[in-house]
Amino acid sequence: MSEGDSNTTQRPDGRAVDQLRTVNFKNNIAPYATGSTLIEWGDTRVICSATVEESVPRWMKMQNVEGGWLTAEYSMLPYSTLDRKRRDISKGKIDGRSQEIQRLIGRSMRAAVDMVKLGSRTIWIDCDVLQADGGTRTASITGGYVALSLAFVKLQSEGLLECDPIISPVAAVSVGVVGGVPVLDLPYVEDVAAEVDMNLVMNANGEFIELQGTGEKNSFTEAELSTMLSHGRKGVTELLEFQKAAIAEG
Ligand code: UDP
Repeated sequence: MSEGDSNTTQRPDGRAVDQLRTVNFKNNIAPYATGSTLIEWGDTRVICSATVEESVPRWMKMQNVEGGWLTAEYSMLPYSTLDRKRRDISKGKIDGRSQEIQRLIGRSMRAAVDMVKLGSRTIWIDCDVLQADGGTRTASITGGYVALSLAFVKLQSEGLLECDPIISPVAAVSVGVVGGVPVLDLPYVEDVAAEVDMNLVMNANGEFIELQGTGEKNSFTEAELSTMLSHGRKGVTELLEFQKAAIAEG
């Protein structure tokens, strides 16, 4: 068994290199939101909700932009990490990491939606991390998409939407290189040790929406990149199926 042998590497939780952690959805966790789910992805848990506001931002009205808007907010609850994380409000400003993540969630969700079909309304996607063990942004996107779809089902059942504004389902997963081996879906213990850390956002057509990849400790080769992408594609394909089942459950 060589260290680089991708099928025999021992991971802390015993998973295969291209295996996801267990993923579950608990829908309607926040009944006052238009759509909501609690995504439980290994030991990472994020409450994702979609709330509809029957208006659009001022800039859209001023610029005569047709259709609706979608925006996202992300935060980690104080008790989601081993050491208590102070709320942004107590510091008086949102931290840079949260801002970067909520923009990524917003871009990813907008890529899934036809804004004209959405009509003149705003969707707020709120992602609140209940428990963080790596991959909170990918869980927010994957769960956010389920919350969004549940909201669209509700709007259609209430006659507020004529047709489904989804262009293509979207899911996200992390990949990385740990101990010289490309792996799928890193928990925190692997994330901190990773030489390379990458997040993939993809749609159901197999297209990329966003790639965020950094050689944290080492540069990486094209061969490693290619293996990470193939693990990521496999993971996203599975996640899209889990999402579909969760949405069908309602
Ligand atoms: N983390 C933490 N406190 C923080 C930021 C991150 O404990 O303020 C942990 C948490 O488990 C998170 C992991 O570090 O999931 C990896 O963080 P990263 O910034 O890479 O984002 P993520 O992988 O959650 O999208």
